[in-house]
Formats: sequence, structure tokens, C-alpha cells
Amino acid sequence: MIFRQLFEPQSSTYTYLVACAKTGEAALIDPVLETVDRDLAVLAELGLTLKYTIETHLHADHVTGTARLRERTGSKAAVPERSGAASCDLPVREGEPIRVGTLVIEPLYVPGHTVDHHAYLLRTDDGARVFTGDALMIDGCGRTDFQGGDSESLYRAVHDKIFSLPDDTLIYPGHDYQQRRVSTVAQERARNPRLGGCKTIEEFVAIMNGLNLPRPAKMDVAVPANRLCGERAN
Ligand code: FE
Repeated sequence: MIFRQLFEPQSSTYTYLVACAKTGEAALIDPVLETVDRDLAVLAELGLTLKYTIETHLHADHVTGTARLRERTGSKAAVPERSGAASCDLPVREGEPIRVGTLVIEPLYVPGHTVDHHAYLLRTDDGARVFTGDALMIDGCGRTDFQGGDSESLYRAVHDKIFSLPDDTLIYPGHDYQQRRVSTVAQERARNPRLGGCKTIEEFVAIMNGLNLPRPAKMDVAVPANRLCGERAN
């Protein structure tokens, strides 16, 4: 198993490279358009073939690198079926694992940040990792006020699908704005200030209703582009 955590500073997005050491097949989870050349250089340096790009959800804050990577490498776009994205090659559904060489990536449907959001669980010999996208971040979570977001759904999905995983499962978020890189299920379950501890669903909904966040600057460009896997919607 080959693993790299890559960072795009403009949108503070993490892109994850996972690859099978035996076959050299790789997947990139949540690639970003601006860092496609960096991603290609990492793949080349490691001698890997990009089989899939995998989206956690239709992003509002950045444009995905998926279409550009597909043009350059022939990779396939795995996108949650509920995103309704055109030119998707593999519609993602919970219960239908994505295979990359000997790796088995299990999609978990965790709606609430957006209606299409999936996390991805990867169990290997050295432990389990879950790529939580914007459903669960370190000491936080994604907003729930657009794209079919729903605070009650997010609370239930995180508790049922992520907090139910073994304590030492590593949590790799879709973003971090303070250079934190990784957490664990035990840590977030115990002390996530929104979803962890003994927070009730009512307390969580009240926190989310009180956020009053600005609209993402790139939303009007990013969402239509991401519906086309990152191709320009001219
Ligand atoms: Fe998001």
C-alpha cells in the first residue's frame, strides 16, 4: 500500500493518493484542478498508473482535477451517483467497493454536508483509514446550508457510519485550515466540538443554524464545472 496526503493551499483541500504496491494501480481522492501537474509528477515519481479519480461530493469551493487527469492519463472518474455528474465513468454507491489493484475502497453514504456525499473506508494490513471529505473534519465538519445539506442527516450519518468504526481508524479530512493532518475515530467521537462528546442532535442543529457563513467565493464556477467532472461549463 502506497499512501500520500497532498495539500492545495488556496482552498485548503487535501487530495489523497492511494495505490497498490503490487500492481502499481493508483487512485486519487478529491484531486484539485490547480494541482494536477503536481499529482502527475507524484504518480510518475512513484511509477504508478492512475486508475480512478474518486470524488467525495460535488465541491462548491474548488474545481476538481478529475477531467484534466482523465485527459492526461486515461483514468476513470468515480463520482457519487447522487451527484448526477455528467461524464462520470463509475457511479459510486455504498455497498459497491472500488477496487484498485488489491486495495478495496468501501464507499459509505454520509449525507448532510451535501446530499451526494460519500466517505471512503480503506482497510489494509497496517490498519484502517477513512477519508471523510467534508462530512467530518478534525474538530469540525462541513457546512450544511446548501446543496441539499441537512444538519440532522449529517449528525445521524456521522454517528452511524463513522463513529461506529473501530477507535483507532484514522480519519483523513477533505480540508483543514490549521495544518492538522489526521485524527482518529476515538478522538473525534470524544471531543469533536460539534458532533462528539455527548452532543445531542438538537445541540448540533443549533450550532449549525448559528454559523451564518458567507457563500463560497468560487461556488458559481465550481458547482457547474464539477457537474462535468471539472470540465469548463462554457
Ligand atoms: Fe464541500
